[in-house]
Amino acid sequence: MHIFPTPTLAIHGSQERFPVRRLYCVGRNYADHAREMGQPHVGQDLFFFTKWADVVCDSGSAVPYPPGTANYQYEVELVVAIGSRVNNVTPSQALECVFGYACGLDMTRRDQQLAAREKSRPWDVGKNFDASAPIGAIHRAAEVGNMKRRRLWLEVNGVLRQDTNVDQMLFPVDTIIAHLSSLYVLEPGDVIMTGTPAGVGAVARGDKLVGHVEGLSPIAIDII
Ligand code: MN
Repeated sequence: MHIFPTPTLAIHGSQERFPVRRLYCVGRNYADHAREMGQPHVGQDLFFFTKWADVVCDSGSAVPYPPGTANYQYEVELVVAIGSRVNNVTPSQALECVFGYACGLDMTRRDQQLAAREKSRPWDVGKNFDASAPIGAIHRAAEVGNMKRRRLWLEVNGVLRQDTNVDQMLFPVDTIIAHLSSLYVLEPGDVIMTGTPAGVGAVARGDKLVGHVEGLSPIAIDII
């Protein structure tokens, strides 16, 4: 029997790696992105979808253009890594379980996602596929301080495509963790992608993507 390795992410300033247990993603967490997706019903519901842990990949990866799509898109996001068990936590206590923060890309087969949405089917094929979560090095929360107001931006081939501040989230990180912890027991190794701002778009083979959160290591990938 083949034993599969535990998926891991880099930890900034350390040789150790962060073992990934589960990958949760927030849908529609910026009003401008909700509008560009034709879903302007903002501020009303906080909802989640998931990706497998083993779809993560590191900054510096060459990411193959995935099968089954003609509209492969980027979404730059602030990523939260959970460091301790938490269940039914209040927003005021929620940040105590945070191990650290990173910048990630919620890569999306947009044509598959929209077709599923149209038919009221699950988003799995559109969102959860091999290498669909490139995530940069995790910076420990104690080192980076308060992440409530940081610039979040993405360049494709050196051209600015997404640019916002995480203070524009409809549901901030403490609210996200509190709500998620009412649905699931969160454990060390759980990772949350917190949603993307406007400016999403398609990429092609040969494109170079670099996502940034102010104060964190960038996530850089090449599409091959
Ligand atoms: Mn997303």
